[in-house]
Amino acid sequence: MSHHGPPFTDEHEHLRESARGFIERELTPHAQRWEEERWFPDEVFGKLAAQGLLGLKYPTEYGGQGGDYLHEAVLVEELARVGSGGTAAGIGARVNIATPPIWKFGTEEQQRDYLAPAIRGEKIGALGITEPGAGSDVASLRTSAERVDGGFVVRGEKTYITNGVRADFIVTAVRTTPEGGHGGISFLIVERGEGVSSAKLKKLGWAASDTATIAYEDAFVPEENLLGELHGGFKLMMANFQWERLAMALGAVGAMRLAWERTAEFARERRTFGRALAGHQVIRHRLADLAASAYAARCVTYDALRRFVAGEEPLAEVTMAKLLTQRASFELMDACLQIHGGAGYMREYWVERAARDARLGPIGGGSDEIMREILGRVLGL
Ligand SMILES: Cc1cc2nc3c(=O)[nH]c(=O)nc-3n(C[C@H](O)[C@H](O)[C@H](O)COP(=O)(O)OP(=O)(O)OC[C@H]3O[C@@H](n4cnc5c(N)ncnc54)[C@H](O)[C@@H]3O)c2cc1C
Repeated sequence: MSHHGPPFTDEHEHLRESARGFIERELTPHAQRWEEERWFPDEVFGKLAAQGLLGLKYPTEYGGQGGDYLHEAVLVEELARVGSGGTAAGIGARVNIATPPIWKFGTEEQQRDYLAPAIRGEKIGALGITEPGAGSDVASLRTSAERVDGGFVVRGEKTYITNGVRADFIVTAVRTTPEGGHGGISFLIVERGEGVSSAKLKKLGWAASDTATIAYEDAFVPEENLLGELHGGFKLMMANFQWERLAMALGAVGAMRLAWERTAEFARERRTFGRALAGHQVIRHRLADLAASAYAARCVTYDALRRFVAGEEPLAEVTMAKLLTQRASFELMDACLQIHGGAGYMREYWVERAARDARLGPIGGGSDEIMREILGRVLGL
């Protein structure tokens, strides 16, 4: 077992070993089919739950494993081994973006009714923030929640929502005051039902995940499904961004390492002009550069993670980790594809998919440009 080093301990490495074994046994063999079907089965969640992998960082009282962010980090990194960015994204959306707000801001009842069933693998969650007219500029979202007797009536549309078709509940950002801006945003846990409908979108990569538009047409949401404070939604949104971005960086680190290993193996075996590809200096040097890039991605990410779990609130480091890893991952996948030649362009080769999947990184979870804007502020520019 190769130790990943700090901040991970032996305990995390044991978890890594068992999570990796489970993933390679139960998920990886089906990845190609799920990609072709553009859907992974809901039972995947049940299988993960049975292994305790849907609640690593959550308290035992809600059925979680009572671990922390480092345990979750192990899973996020290992999910790259599924070989399907879409499957990893569907699982990740549930454990890393949809349920954390309930864990942090939910009432006892909300934890019982949504967090605990999500950990048990029963209810599937999604996080609905992005709208057709509001992505990077989240404060301009317009989906409205009008106060009525006993709750709210929601009207509007969300888009690009991971798990948006299959979700039983959508943690939805809504506007609760007529004025725009950061102040009038709240969160509601919206159950699928009357007035809530979704449509699946076709995409470049992440094929096995369902990414959807969700229409809210006079959907009634009971009062008790207000998550966190009324008009306090912006705080709730910000509270999980650091972890979401770290999770994306960790996902890239896992994917880069795996892609490098597979490509190096290919380059040792594939022969052209009387020698192995790796015997050609230009390919050997390319692989050396890629190894350095994967190592650098891992170092910045682990450093940000270490600071994050130590409670430092490392905004600059997490932002840099997200920024540095996502483009680097796409570039590494593109280089690996090139080293595979024509085979790299074929659907049956993992690398074609890995390259398409990696293209999401610089866009999702706060784009590269938004990371630079945040850094501009943090660095006092
Ligand atoms: C596959 C996929 C899954 C997703 N899953 C979810 C999900 O589960 N839940 C959810 O809520 N959202 C989700 N998203 C949405 C994602 O977070 C947004 O797409 C992302 O934040 C960018 O927003 P946008 O698409 O509206 O682009 P825009 O904000 O319109 O940006 C367009 C371009 O302009 C750039 N830009 C924007 N503002 C500036 C600026 N000030 N300076 C310089 N450049 C700028 C952007 O970086 C981008 O390149 C998902 C998206 C995808 C593609």
